[in-house]
Amino acid sequence: MADVIKLLPDHVANQIAAGEVVQRPASVVKELLENAIDASATEIKLIVKDAGKTLIQVIDNGVGMSATDARLSFERHATSKIASAEDLFQLQTKGFRGEALASIAAIAHVDMNTKRLDEEVGTCIHIEGGKVVSQEVNVMPKGTSIAVKNLFFNIPARRNFLKSNNVELRHIIDEFHRVALTHPDIHFELYNNGGEIFNLPGTNIRQRIVHIFGNKTNEKLVPVEEDTEVVKLSGFVFKPEFAKKTRGEQFFFVNNRFIKSSYLNHAISSAFEGLVKDQVHPSYFLYLVIDPSSIDINIHPTKTEIKFDDEHAIYAIMRSAVKHSLGQFNVAPILDFERDPNLDTPYDFEGKKADMPTIEVDANFNPFEEEFNGGSNHKPSSFKKEKSSDWESLYVGLDEGSGQDDFSSIELESEVVTGSLFDETNEEESSAVTFQLQRKYIVTSIKSGMVVIDQSKAHQRVLYEQFLKDITVKEAVSQQLLFPLNLKFSKSEIGLLKELKESLENTGFMFSNFEEDSVEVGGIPMNVSESEVGGVLDQLLADFKEEVPENGFSQTDLLAKTLSKTLAVRTGDVLNKASQEALVHNLFACKEPNLSPFNRPTFVTMTANDLDKKFM
Ligand code: ADP
Ligand code: MG
Repeated sequence: MADVIKLLPDHVANQIAAGEVVQRPASVVKELLENAIDASATEIKLIVKDAGKTLIQVIDNGVGMSATDARLSFERHATSKIASAEDLFQLQTKGFRGEALASIAAIAHVDMNTKRLDEEVGTCIHIEGGKVVSQEVNVMPKGTSIAVKNLFFNIPARRNFLKSNNVELRHIIDEFHRVALTHPDIHFELYNNGGEIFNLPGTNIRQRIVHIFGNKTNEKLVPVEEDTEVVKLSGFVFKPEFAKKTRGEQFFFVNNRFIKSSYLNHAISSAFEGLVKDQVHPSYFLYLVIDPSSIDINIHPTKTEIKFDDEHAIYAIMRSAVKHSLGQFNVAPILDFERDPNLDTPYDFEGKKADMPTIEVDANFNPFEEEFNGGSNHKPSSFKKEKSSDWESLYVGLDEGSGQDDFSSIELESEVVTGSLFDETNEEESSAVTFQLQRKYIVTSIKSGMVVIDQSKAHQRVLYEQFLKDITVKEAVSQQLLFPLNLKFSKSEIGLLKELKESLENTGFMFSNFEEDSVEVGGIPMNVSESEVGGVLDQLLADFKEEVPENGFSQTDLLAKTLSKTLAVRTGDVLNKASQEALVHNLFACKEPNLSPFNRPTFVTMTANDLDKKFM
């Protein structure tokens, strides 16, 4: 029998490798920028056309390549950066696999121009689909320019899979941010379709952050600094009041390489514990320097994951360093009984009630939450538990609770619950009574027994159907603002807002004066209050950031979902009688009252029969 195993030709192997290294234009951007940095460039220019689909070009003033190296650089596993396996443990460069250029050249048209300082002339190479088409001598200043055109020209499936230009450009900008933030001393420029998006002169880290994220950023930054044997930590966190709904500005760099780590993210979140509201994320730019032999960054081809030998120590150091900084810069509450406590409260929280523990909260830290919520499911059990375990509370707080619309008082959940429970029991006689349970459920009677409505999920359903209708029939009423709000966003967010403008205006938003990094909001939907606008748009951008659905309906659907999620009453909100009744009424007027927009039940019923059984 004939042998069947064959070695794949190089160009096929390269195409396969490309599938791993190059997912989208932004992956090429990352590889080319990193090569320029490894080549000790001090000026790096990134030029893209059509969000990289037509052209991605990186021009640097680094060391350049000889004619032989230029040709070799496109071979697989050709690298100048490591020579032996031992070098892997002492990596100082970004690249080391020698795969990027070979992979990129396998799936695009590439023009490389490069010259070393010590050579008279440079080299110009043109490659298509991994095949060298021409190699010539040229005259140019020292450095390298690599232009990648028609990415995925020979893999139509990949090309068709690319997202809209806005989405792809956002990915490119994300990569650009990561690289620019790691090398503040390098001058970076970014152009798309001939327009300048960033021009970042060489400077220090603080200034670089401000240049990228806008002038207002400076006042938000709190420095973090810690030097231990295990890790040297530096960088900045945003003051707690600037925590955002989006995870956008969260950056860890380990030995000048951007990495993602949900473990370390957890360390930072826990340092902010109690200082930020639920579901917002602190922003941070943290730089770790660690002995390269105690980390492994080689576990994923796109190299953003990392393994630390001493994970726990690093977690603890990061957490305490950030806590310390927040305390030192007077943004964490201080135990000082003479002080007006409001002084220490992030302004966002001022005058508001403390947030109730709810099941939506990330319950990882607070032991009380365990006790009150005991899990993430619907909870006849916790209801029962509270009743039996805390008899005293049945008799306290009778006159607080439901019907009370002012948020200034802080009560324990159980007090209010049982308070209102007993309040309303007295009124059982009157028909169609509603009452609020645990600031979470609306209970009302129906013919066959009773119905328990999850106030938040029910309200989401009501708002969702309303927004769907508004957007579709375009009849939403807008409240005009006397003074238009000027809101700041990043460039990529502005791009996204423009894309969503029409649908948003159908809900009642009115936008004008789109600038590079700001927009004016002159009108808002009826059910949004002025103070909520920023949060609503933040959440919207977060939900749409990954992907803007192309087709009209799913875009409308996602928009309606996001708005309903953001604007619905929450667990913990006290609803007065009128709101409770309106909610019940509106819910059952919905087309699909049984489910929230996210497919969770909105209510459960219990018949008299069910109750009877409980008393057998
Ligand atoms: P790696 O970066 O992992 O070594 P690449 O395929 O990205 O692999 O690059 C291959 C080699 O080409 C590099 O090791 C380097 O010697 C050379 N090279 C690539 N880009 C540049 C550049 N902009 N300037 C100088 N040399 C470069
Ligand atoms: Mg490289």
